[in-house]
Amino acid sequence: MLFCLTGSVCHAQKRRHAVPEKAAEVRTTIVSNVCYDLTFYVPSTSTEKMTGMAVVSFFAPVKADVTLDFQGRLTGTFLVNDKKRKILQRNGRITIPMKYIKPGPNRLAISFESKDDALTRGGEYLYTRFTQGKASSCFPCFDQPGINATFITHLNLPTGWAAMTNQSSNPISTDLYSFIAGKFEEQRLQRQGHTMRALYRRQDIADESQLPAILEEAAHAVKWMEDYTGMPYPFDDCGILILPPSLSSTIGYASAISLNGHDIFTSARSTQEEKLRRRELISHEIAHLWFGNMVAPCNSSETWYKEVLTNFLTAKMTQKLHSKSNYEMEFLTTCQARAMAIDDSKDAYPIAQQRQGTDHNFYLKDPIISDKGAVMMRFIEEIAGEEQLQTALQVFLKKYYYSVASWNDFITILNEKVPNSGMNQFGDTWVRQKGLPTIHTTYQDGQLLFTQKNPNGGSGFLPQKFEVRLIYDFDRSRTVSVNMLQPIVSIKLNKQPNTIIPNYDGRGYGHFTMDESYMRSLPLRIIVTRDDLNRYALINTVFDNYLSGHVPPSYFGELYRDMTKEKNPLIMRTAIDHMMKIAMDRSVQSERYTLEQCIMDLLPENKRTDCRQAIIRKMATCASAPEVLSQLYNIWQSQSDPSFDEHDYMELAYRLAITHPMECKDILNRQRQLLKDDLAREEFDFVSRACNPDIQARKALTASLKKVQDNKQKPWAAHALRLIETR
Ligand SMILES: [Zn+2]
Repeated sequence: MLFCLTGSVCHAQKRRHAVPEKAAEVRTTIVSNVCYDLTFYVPSTSTEKMTGMAVVSFFAPVKADVTLDFQGRLTGTFLVNDKKRKILQRNGRITIPMKYIKPGPNRLAISFESKDDALTRGGEYLYTRFTQGKASSCFPCFDQPGINATFITHLNLPTGWAAMTNQSSNPISTDLYSFIAGKFEEQRLQRQGHTMRALYRRQDIADESQLPAILEEAAHAVKWMEDYTGMPYPFDDCGILILPPSLSSTIGYASAISLNGHDIFTSARSTQEEKLRRRELISHEIAHLWFGNMVAPCNSSETWYKEVLTNFLTAKMTQKLHSKSNYEMEFLTTCQARAMAIDDSKDAYPIAQQRQGTDHNFYLKDPIISDKGAVMMRFIEEIAGEEQLQTALQVFLKKYYYSVASWNDFITILNEKVPNSGMNQFGDTWVRQKGLPTIHTTYQDGQLLFTQKNPNGGSGFLPQKFEVRLIYDFDRSRTVSVNMLQPIVSIKLNKQPNTIIPNYDGRGYGHFTMDESYMRSLPLRIIVTRDDLNRYALINTVFDNYLSGHVPPSYFGELYRDMTKEKNPLIMRTAIDHMMKIAMDRSVQSERYTLEQCIMDLLPENKRTDCRQAIIRKMATCASAPEVLSQLYNIWQSQSDPSFDEHDYMELAYRLAITHPMECKDILNRQRQLLKDDLAREEFDFVSRACNPDIQARKALTASLKKVQDNKQKPWAAHALRLIETR
């Protein structure tokens, strides 16, 4: 059986040298035009060693010692240019003395036994994993970047096994080479000249009938990437390996992606959001076949950039699946809000970071790389222009085709396309600086002035673009776009505006402050701002200034006025969050109670279900006013409000149990009896322990909750900790 495959790469440690850098450099001058013709004998059990034969052809310009890397065992004969030779292996190297080498083409034939270091072996499968210069643990090769080779693979497999390996005439480096074999089932799909192949074991997947859709989604992503990058997918086959759940992280291959069955099979009742997440995950892995494989980070301190680029392209690929009107607000509430929250905290760190030995899941979930990276890419695209960015990415791929490059190599290309547009700052401050800047808006001598202040006191700034709304007499108004390519930007105005709304479109990244006189009128604009996105951005700007003490808590009244009419569920949730924060900040208890009751008084004013849900769900997490609690008690007791589901009632029960310590047990018991299935009861039993009135018991529980490792219990533990903290 013969297969050929070359490996996708989504991994932190690609292209590391197995060889000291200096020796690696010298070797690139000694050998070129390398081809490996590899035969592997794959045993049926994981205890037997894999053996093989490597025919290594290369060109040597002059006579010189040639060193191969190999950590396995040499077996049998060693032929150099068809003659049997005695060759020594020492410290993972095989050196062929120059007397056996001829200038011109050379050919070695080596029989060997592989080490298991780079093989993931179960009883019924074998995956190679040649990152970090590990290919030479499996077969003799020149295991370093800079010596790309073509591969021919012959696999001798146990009966009933199937396999995949990368077949391409494109020379690739050893870390991108791979093969996978096992007792796999296979499904295929032909699309645009490629064969999409899914390899899987029945026991690893929840629902075989979803495979055609998964193959279709992967094929769509391949086509999209080919169109966007102008760079065809260079392999015949595109593999999709469904990994056993025990292999938790994905494995990277040049012509295959690997996915965990757990992540991509949705349940029969899966929501639109779950389907979208699956699409994003598949698209992300496919995009790595270009950014990660076709061009790879030059070392582990550059790994972050392939994630940033891949996330950006994934978002572009899947953007139209989001409803259009919501996409912008979704971006602000998810990516941008998460990035700003962490960047504004003491835990802030730069996008460019080096994490040794971290697997792909880490990079997928890292909020700075995924969220701040996405915000940065949006600005790059906006400032440089969609077309220019696309062209720069195309040039980047072409120039570093199947080799390594740094983020600055990309920024240099981009900067050449759009000089003087601040692109250098994206290679510098945007990726290397941490913290949220402050952007101050003021009016002075006929000019609007915007000044960006570096959070760390330095001179670096973050180039960005945002809108500002100017309002004059009789509510005449206009919007100006601010292109902040310098730390100070000015815009000439004919007339002084009465009101200025900074960051009107919400896209700006930072704290937006203003002179006090302008700040005063800002909350009054909430209710008259009609557009959802603009109103949402304004509410956030005002709240940010409330938090820094520039807006008084009395603006609660403006939020109340808006809430009586508000129709947008997202704005409702945001406004209620802000109102509750103002209430909780009151140091006088009676004031807090009054404000909580005010929020409850909105229920008859705005009868929308979304409003009712936003208010009661918020109250269920932190209400403390006795009257409010008694209203919540009635809602909980009736258990019949169609706006709420089982989880809402569980949440209400937790709050009521915490605030009514004498009735704690009764409330929890009653709620438990009402639960419909075992899973809900299991969760309830786990979380409700946080309601315990005994402080010592809670302390002990806190310690144990912090140690929870189980994936199912982790969110429950976080929930219980939240309950303990916000009593
Ligand atoms: Zn990734």
